[in-house]
Amino acid sequence: MELPDNAIEARGLFKTYPATRQTPAMAALKGIDLTIPRGSIFGLLGPNGAGKSTFINILAGLTRKTEGTVRIWGRDIDERPRDARASIGVVPQEIAADVFFTPRESLEVQAGLYGVPKGQRRTDELLAALGLTDKADAYVRQLSGGMKRRLMVAKAMVHNPPVLVLDEPTAGVDVELRRQLWNYVVSLNQQGVTIVLTTHYLEEAESLCDTIAIVNRGQVVACEPTSQLLRRLDTRTVVVTPETPLASAPHVGRFETRLRPNGDLAVVFKTAEAGVEQVLADVRAAGVPVKDLRTEDPDLEDVFVSLTYAAPDTSPVVA
Ligand code: ADP
Repeated sequence: MELPDNAIEARGLFKTYPATRQTPAMAALKGIDLTIPRGSIFGLLGPNGAGKSTFINILAGLTRKTEGTVRIWGRDIDERPRDARASIGVVPQEIAADVFFTPRESLEVQAGLYGVPKGQRRTDELLAALGLTDKADAYVRQLSGGMKRRLMVAKAMVHNPPVLVLDEPTAGVDVELRRQLWNYVVSLNQQGVTIVLTTHYLEEAESLCDTIAIVNRGQVVACEPTSQLLRRLDTRTVVVTPETPLASAPHVGRFETRLRPNGDLAVVFKTAEAGVEQVLADVRAAGVPVKDLRTEDPDLEDVFVSLTYAAPDTSPVVA
């Protein structure tokens, strides 16, 4: 079979959750276009509520999209839902353990659900790969949280899908287990499996992913090779304490400014474009007497803001 160039292609994807008695309708995805190349380790990064799980649930066939098209391994999820689903394994965010099964039984049942013939099952191999051989015949309720999570990865792989999606795989997992999990994920990728993972830890995406897409409020705000993105994200913040607390944030040159609750002024700048000197000069020029200042590294929230922030147009008006 000829392999597709892209593991996943989403075009114009919208999802609106209908209103309920308690909540208004919620537009969770607002026109997502994403191309995930075959063979990559692709990071889907975004703050809570960005729409990452919604996107993944649509891929997994658990949530219906409102509009748009999705192809998984070249197979349209509307036209060939079974084939599309057979091409993907999804490790959900929540640990959902079948407490009445042992890990071995759990994998056998899952393989049965996917119609994998007995002779082609890889139960022992998966148990070994995820360090669960010792616990193969223990009840799942006797497993630690990390073991349950690894079992979920094994379950997602029973039908040998070419695409594996992990939704926040390391939330609540200790350092050693994270390392083990990543080793396994990387080895799968080396065998040709395309990996998609969501996280809200920038460092995690940085160290693993070759490409990162940033999603915020249901839209893709950036999608590029990791090294390129990191260069763009190289922002810092100067926090100025004025002589008297400010009531509103003034314009400071071409920089983005924000007022802190205590009346301090935060000015965000890209290290490639300006330095603290320049920021400070512009703060003074804006008429803010500086009592004290400090610099801060960005957190992810700052990064999203700066990626979605359009600097005010300060180009001179030509008469
Ligand atoms: P993320 O995974 O990035 O944290 P989600 O996809 O879970 O984001 O959520 C995106 C938005 O959609 C959020 O505002 C969330 O409250 C809303 N949402 C998610 N699932 C549902 C649902 N089943 N019903 C209504 N709103 C939902």
